[in-house]
Amino acid sequence: RAKSAGGNRFELADPEADARAITRHGLTTALPAALDRNEFFIEYQPLVHLGDGSVRGAEALVRWLHPQHGVLGPDRFIPLAEHTGLIVPLGRWVLEQSVRQAREWQERHCAEAAAPLRINVNLSPCQLTHPGLVSDTVDILERSGLEPGALCLEVTESALIGADDDLLKPLRRLAEMGVDIALDDFGTGYSNLANLRRLPVSILKLDRSFTQGMQQYPADPVDLKIVEGIVTLAHSLDLAVTVEGVETGAQAEQLRILGCDTAQGWYYARPGPPERLHELALVDATG
Ligand code: C2E
Ligand code: MG
Ligand code: MG
Ligand code: MG
Repeated sequence: RAKSAGGNRFELADPEADARAITRHGLTTALPAALDRNEFFIEYQPLVHLGDGSVRGAEALVRWLHPQHGVLGPDRFIPLAEHTGLIVPLGRWVLEQSVRQAREWQERHCAEAAAPLRINVNLSPCQLTHPGLVSDTVDILERSGLEPGALCLEVTESALIGADDDLLKPLRRLAEMGVDIALDDFGTGYSNLANLRRLPVSILKLDRSFTQGMQQYPADPVDLKIVEGIVTLAHSLDLAVTVEGVETGAQAEQLRILGCDTAQGWYYARPGPPERLHELALVDATG
């Protein structure tokens, strides 16, 4: 390989890198038609209340059923869609589908469920700067009949680092309407904790890297201290804490003891079709 050979040598061919570049290029050019052809679909992963184990809602996670490559995860195509701007119509499609789905769950459950199911949708930084964000969201909520309080938009910590007021304005408008804003992958960026007060955020989603430190019982004491500190700070700022990547019962138990509010991970369920979420929530509601 050119890199390991070092120095100012000629670039040697790297067939794997070439293949990756070709696929990337192919996927990028195929994206717009994929949206027209309805090749995207959404899986839902339950959000579980750590106190009583009940299903409170789900996160919507987009996938692409590519005619040649099969099912592709978002890490394969979201960066490409962001690069070309297709993320705006794609993100709007995800929001519309998920909000409608949440409304449907609510209608099918209304009698049994204690609290109406909620839906979390990821927003890319490009969507934040798109002028239609607030009006599109209002429109989608109104047409579906979902109350704004049942929607949570997830924005990564890195997207909001150093955000100026112009960037925060649309999020503030949405928060004032009652939409929850979650800071996703929290702990992976470099945000100043005091900065949190400035953001229109009501939920911290603690990154999976923290949960990983708790796979064993007892967990790494330093990891425990860090999570404990974050939870204390979050609660003192009136923020709820959701943890991602919970894979074992031991993790769930320790995170519950540390005071985390909501959990998400393979221990409860992998992302799946909407009927699966419906079943999980229903079993839960009827005992
Ligand atoms: P994220 O928002 O942090 O979503 C959580 C990711 O962790 C998901 O990966 C989920 O499948 C995975 N996960 C959940 N539980 C576990 C677990 O117990 N163990 C492990 N190892 N992983 C777990 P996924 O579906 O591949 O999504 C990756 C990322 O793609 C998401 O990270 C999100 O940033 C982005 N993404 C997904 N859907 C959308 C979308 O509609 N719009 C935008 N802009 N981004 C999206
Ligand atoms: Mg997320
Ligand atoms: Mg996350
Ligand atoms: Mg994450």
